[in-house]
Amino acid sequence: MDQAGHADIDLTAPEFDRLDRLRALFLDFDSFFASCEQQRDPALRGRPVGVIPVATDHTCCIAASAEAKRCGVKTGTPISEARRLCPGIVFILAEHRVYIEFQQRALEAIDRCAPVWGVHSIDELSIKLCPRTREPAAAVELGRAIKASLRERVGEAIRCTIGIASNRFLAKTACNLGKPEGLVVMDKPAIRERVLVLDAEKLTGIGENMGRRLRARGVATGADLYRLTEKEMKAAWEGILGTMWWEQLRGGPDYYDRPTSRQSVGHQHIMAPELRTPEGTRAVGVRLLTKACVRLRDMRYHATRMSVSVRYERRPSWHVEARFEPLRDSMELQRIFARVWDPPGLATAGPKQVGVCLHGLALSSSVESSLFETVRRADGLSDTLDRITRRFGYDAVYAGSMHTAKRAAPRRIAFGNIPDLRIPDAETSPSGPGAER
Ligand SMILES: [Mg+2]
Repeated sequence: MDQAGHADIDLTAPEFDRLDRLRALFLDFDSFFASCEQQRDPALRGRPVGVIPVATDHTCCIAASAEAKRCGVKTGTPISEARRLCPGIVFILAEHRVYIEFQQRALEAIDRCAPVWGVHSIDELSIKLCPRTREPAAAVELGRAIKASLRERVGEAIRCTIGIASNRFLAKTACNLGKPEGLVVMDKPAIRERVLVLDAEKLTGIGENMGRRLRARGVATGADLYRLTEKEMKAAWEGILGTMWWEQLRGGPDYYDRPTSRQSVGHQHIMAPELRTPEGTRAVGVRLLTKACVRLRDMRYHATRMSVSVRYERRPSWHVEARFEPLRDSMELQRIFARVWDPPGLATAGPKQVGVCLHGLALSSSVESSLFETVRRADGLSDTLDRITRRFGYDAVYAGSMHTAKRAAPRRIAFGNIPDLRIPDAETSPSGPGAER
């Protein structure tokens, strides 16, 4: 893209001052699960590897090694297609326990260089730069030291990409742009060269749906986003999230670090007459839950309570509430839904409205770091590990559960009128916490 396309954006203006202060380092392991397999079996190094969740020909890769990625194999590629793209590919059955152990060793190796501040998923973490490491040269030095420590203490096959910027959002953006094995400082020149020319949709946190809505407003690139005023961004995001995006792009605090007044994520739906059956009502409930789960993850929360309700024409409303440990996994939340779903009179009393709400929200960053503390303490307790492994569901798992929900909910259901335009549809949901990028 031509430089003239964003010559009007003056990054020396005072509103961009915060971009000069480096405060966050974001680290994302490259092809993490596949690298772990290559680390524990040297025969796999240098070979294309696809990690699969179950031993069947009808599954897809949940991770691909760098060699497989070069052939076009990625997370979500079906086995048959991976074989076609990459004839020599070796498939390995995922062993999540192993990846958690590698992650623990990696966290220890990184902690020797600087304290890990947030563990965001099995292969993503961040560090808050202290005053000593905020100078660009010192920050880059820290990045190199982390890579060396990982090589030395965890293994040569474990590679990562590091982004450094004024906040975690920009550091993660730097990281995405530096894949694989990069070390990118997102200073003003880098923003000018790499972010302004980027498709807005490529920015972390902007899904396909938000991308579509932005394009409808004439926003296609990073430069277009930077050109929006705070007021315009508020309109685009329909609220306070727009202000947060405006600030994030200017090096302000990350929105998901802020204390929140948000108490719940939920949806209600008045059903079309043909859906007012036991099956139709349940399908609508599942679909509402799916939407709430996507939104929960998008906003980076875990939930600890779920309430489900049905309103009828000819009887009082039914309402139930479940409590559980912090969860964000669609499958687990669907299991809870199935357990509590028992509304009476669906065939006779004219169900007309369904509501599903997730409450008791906690920031995922705090939940996940405390989970990892638990693992560190209780190393070897397989039930703890299994619980955590389940919680770090993978894209494949999410996708599978979405398909179930989609099958359960007939296509003719008009969900388009549920007023939740901010969050992408389940089909285009942001990846789950354990997904590799
Ligand atoms: Mg990764």
